[in-house]
Amino acid sequence: MRVRNACSFSLVAALFAASALRGVSQVPTPISVLGHNPGDDYYLANYEEEIQYFHALAAHSDRIKMFTVGKTSEGRDIEIAVISSPENLAKLDEYKADTKRLSMAQGLDDASAQALAQQAKVIVHIDGGLHASEVAGPQHSMVLAYKLLSAQGDPEIDRILNNEILLLYPTLNPDGQDMVVSWYRKNLGTRFEVSPMPWLFQDYVGHDNNRDGYMLNMKESQVVTKTELEYSPAIFYCQHQTAPFPARIWIPPFSDPISSNISQYVRSWFNVVGTDMTAYLNGHQMPGAISESQFDNWYPGFVDYAGSFRNEISFFTETALYRYATPRFYTVDEFPKDRQDLKALTMYTTPWQGGWWRLKDAVDYMVAGSMSVLDTAARYHETLLYNQYQAARDNIKRYDQEPPFAYVIPSVQRDVPEAAQLAHIMLENGLKINATAAGFNANGREYPAGSWVILMNQPYAGLAKELFEVQRYPDAMDTGGTKAVDLPYDVTGWTLPLQMGVQVDAVTDPVTPEQRSHLNEIAQVDLPTAKVDGTGTEFVLSHNVNASFRLVNDVLANGGTVSFDNDQAKTAQGMEAGALVVNGVSRSTLTDLSSKYGVSALSVDKSPAHKTEIHRARVGLYRPWQASIDEGWTRWILEQYGFKPISLYNADMRSGGLKDRVDVIILPDMRERSLVSGFSVGIVPGEYAGGLNDEGLASLREFVRQGGTLVAFNQSAAALIPLMSLPVKNVLEGLKSDKFFCSGALLRVDIESRERPVTSGLPSEVSVMFEQGPAFETQPGFKGAVLARYPKDSNPLESGLLLHPEAIEGKIAALEVPYGQGRIFLYGFKPQWRGQSHGTYKFFFNVLYKYEQPAFVPEKPAAATSDKPKQAE
Ligand SMILES: [Zn+2]
Repeated sequence: MRVRNACSFSLVAALFAASALRGVSQVPTPISVLGHNPGDDYYLANYEEEIQYFHALAAHSDRIKMFTVGKTSEGRDIEIAVISSPENLAKLDEYKADTKRLSMAQGLDDASAQALAQQAKVIVHIDGGLHASEVAGPQHSMVLAYKLLSAQGDPEIDRILNNEILLLYPTLNPDGQDMVVSWYRKNLGTRFEVSPMPWLFQDYVGHDNNRDGYMLNMKESQVVTKTELEYSPAIFYCQHQTAPFPARIWIPPFSDPISSNISQYVRSWFNVVGTDMTAYLNGHQMPGAISESQFDNWYPGFVDYAGSFRNEISFFTETALYRYATPRFYTVDEFPKDRQDLKALTMYTTPWQGGWWRLKDAVDYMVAGSMSVLDTAARYHETLLYNQYQAARDNIKRYDQEPPFAYVIPSVQRDVPEAAQLAHIMLENGLKINATAAGFNANGREYPAGSWVILMNQPYAGLAKELFEVQRYPDAMDTGGTKAVDLPYDVTGWTLPLQMGVQVDAVTDPVTPEQRSHLNEIAQVDLPTAKVDGTGTEFVLSHNVNASFRLVNDVLANGGTVSFDNDQAKTAQGMEAGALVVNGVSRSTLTDLSSKYGVSALSVDKSPAHKTEIHRARVGLYRPWQASIDEGWTRWILEQYGFKPISLYNADMRSGGLKDRVDVIILPDMRERSLVSGFSVGIVPGEYAGGLNDEGLASLREFVRQGGTLVAFNQSAAALIPLMSLPVKNVLEGLKSDKFFCSGALLRVDIESRERPVTSGLPSEVSVMFEQGPAFETQPGFKGAVLARYPKDSNPLESGLLLHPEAIEGKIAALEVPYGQGRIFLYGFKPQWRGQSHGTYKFFFNVLYKYEQPAFVPEKPAAATSDKPKQAE
């Protein structure tokens, strides 16, 4: 109690003094406000406390202004500090306008850009990280701010304040900071002091909050990107904490490969900033900096990297971390064998010798990293600003001269709301988008009015190319034995048109003035105008359109009825199989829903003769205590589409009687060991230990036998084969990377069993995100249905890296397995990957209803014969 009183007293005192002392150099120290120094052993400030400290700083110093830039997923304010000299802050809007002009090369030639770069201020983004378990980041932000605001007559800091404007985010993940700090405080001093937090540190996506950089599904990524576009920073620096042991901090240069869609200026600045930082740390007697090893930046979706495609020097460092604020002593014999000699290397110039590692050490390394970046930016401010202009200028010029000259997203296609969504994402990412008027011709065809066109002669063109083109990861096996690149750190292919099932056409001839006369730049992407044609009382919707599920779920929630048509029916888009038939709602209700979701409908007098009525199902989603990012993404998608998922924790799964509570259970991507055993006893407090355990598995079996539907994604699908004794084999089980490797790529599958409801609305070929998944063969006794298969005798790779495609050719990607009265759906890929693979959502949306299942068609003898030679291999 005494400590708490003292703490709040000093906070009040600091705020009280604010008005009297503003402008005078009485900048409050962190300890005077928090009662602790950031970095103290066993102490972590939470977000509220951190923001209180920043407000105390703003009350006392004219070098800082605070802004609220948006809200988090849990509704907290996201605040940023803008730090510079008082003179610069007084002209903040003017300087923002300068960097905007430079970064867009707006109305500038080389000479005027050079002149502007001399007078403008370089804007630098630094943040306290977004992975909340990496706890030093937010603590570092306070120390850095205090250092910059309290310095008097320090030439290094004066140069920074005079030439730069710093955007300092206390953290990019306020919700997570509070969750982690409260978990640590609860366990401090107990045997669980360093135990992992058993839930995600961002409501939906946890650690994948850094994998949402271009898709912008989460509120936090939207806010960061919007702010970035507002300020046009030249540098974007994010703090992380997973240095390759025993190094104390990982610093760029990155490992290869690197994308050619990043400006050459940015590519070389990564190296300059990194090398400067290593020298800065060495100069401050801070050993253990390592570069290059481990981290490539091939995937463009890192929030702290996506900006590189907008000509920002966007990067991160990884400082060493033990756990939370608990210190740890290391001896050299704990180091990996090849590091025990403590030998210097080119990219590891000052090997760390072991000893204590405390939160304060991590904070100090981060502050040094930030100071080094600010110092580099201050020294080269003019060059950095002029490079921002040059990068934009070069892209404009390049795509005036070489293809692709533009991309067109047609406004008439299989799933028009998804096409609009793709255009919307590009706009949110800062690209200029045009809508076509009638008469726009390209690629030898006329595009329908309202199509979207991205002209490539624009500053951030590299981002459009990166997201639209097919990725070719340098093939590690094609270099005659010497590996040019290591195996990738993350996924290798993400081509959005393939993932989202949206047609996008590259324009390969120069865009003419005549073509331009049919284009109008737009400030927002509207959903396509949806119509309800016809005069009947039943409504037919396209099953091809994902948004139809939003509408259908609203209809079912409001007492209407919905069926899958079993024949061909006419929809607003033409004839299609499996159309959705809606009745029991008024025309005005349907018209409202139709325009809300951008889904057109056709009303008919005569109901289709053969249809299967579907009913709302209670959808359970397994939510393990070994917090699953895949679970979070799935939950988010289900909420977005109105499926209202019910979280099933271990206790729910083990208690039996699941059929009374839910109709469908989804298992997110989890390995068998995690699924069955979870955290060991002793790692986490008892209530979070274990997984499904034997009781959970028994009740899961009972659930399906009694008629439940079980859906398993990726590794969970592989795990169910032995756990449920299914007559299926995972042909990739146990294969090492020299026999098969695919860490995330888009592969083509052919859809089979078109007569089954689960495949409704899918085209005959689909791109699936394959990320270290299984692939299947059926075994004797299999009586279910194959839903999707990798093509026989041809490489299924569409985008990314796949080593040894022969291991997967002709194998099964998805199947439906009867089990008792129920069914199990096994997907050997991620139909809901990071909220991006919209083109495969129907694989599971279609089975999240209750309906009468058609009987399985027995497997044809011919198919069985042709499978035989493969099995004999
Ligand atoms: Zn991290």
